[in-house]
Amino acid sequence: MRRKIIAGNWKMHKTIVEATALASAVKKEVGTLEHPSVVVCPPYTALTEVSMALKDSEIQVGAQNMHQEDSGAFTGEVSAEMVLTSGCSYVILGHSERRTLFSETDQLVNVKTRKALAVGLTPIVCVGETLAQRQAGRMEQVIEEQFNGSLEGLSADEIRRVVIAYEPVWAIGTGQVATPEQAEEVHRYIRGLLTRRYDQATAEEIAILYGGSVKGSNAAGLFAKENIDGALVGGASLKADEFVAIVRAMI
Ligand code: PEP
Repeated sequence: MRRKIIAGNWKMHKTIVEATALASAVKKEVGTLEHPSVVVCPPYTALTEVSMALKDSEIQVGAQNMHQEDSGAFTGEVSAEMVLTSGCSYVILGHSERRTLFSETDQLVNVKTRKALAVGLTPIVCVGETLAQRQAGRMEQVIEEQFNGSLEGLSADEIRRVVIAYEPVWAIGTGQVATPEQAEEVHRYIRGLLTRRYDQATAEEIAILYGGSVKGSNAAGLFAKENIDGALVGGASLKADEFVAIVRAMI
């Protein structure tokens, strides 16, 4: 059976004290759950404290980004090893905000993905089209380009350790969630790309998360779809009860 994952992307929110309190509140409700896997992704500054707060639970910690080099004169950046040794087992890569606001390309996401895998982190690699691209009928082309570029050259063993997140840019932070049918269509398309590149058995193993305005009230409809294996949650992951409701919708 495929892994099911609910990951919370806290973006640039929460001080260390606030982050620890949120993590502890989530732990209290779903800390012993093994299925689905629950992941929280605080800002870098809170990774260690949140990891410590979640130490005796099943909840995993992820970073929201990392640099691709091991070390060096890269002021303001954080390496994969630093992320790993802060207690993380996951890292979000290629989020649309990184692509748009920080000019990250598929090629850079690919280098980061390889580095994350090399140190033993599970990358959550994001892809997704803009509204203009969707309206121009270019959705599949955009997804395929991002898939090919961001995941280029990964072996079957490597791709099995990757989580893919489909996050339509028009749904992120807008309150305009994709319908379960819209999301399923793209998830099925991505699984088809995996089958074509690898084989069906490999494609079936890979978790494909949906992200974009997921809430407690719309999660169950999305999770009922065959190819939707969980969610990458932004805004709704900042409130423990709302995030927990999304986790419970997957049980
Ligand atoms: C995200 O930023 O990954 C995201 C899905 O945000 P939101 O849930 O707020 O749309």
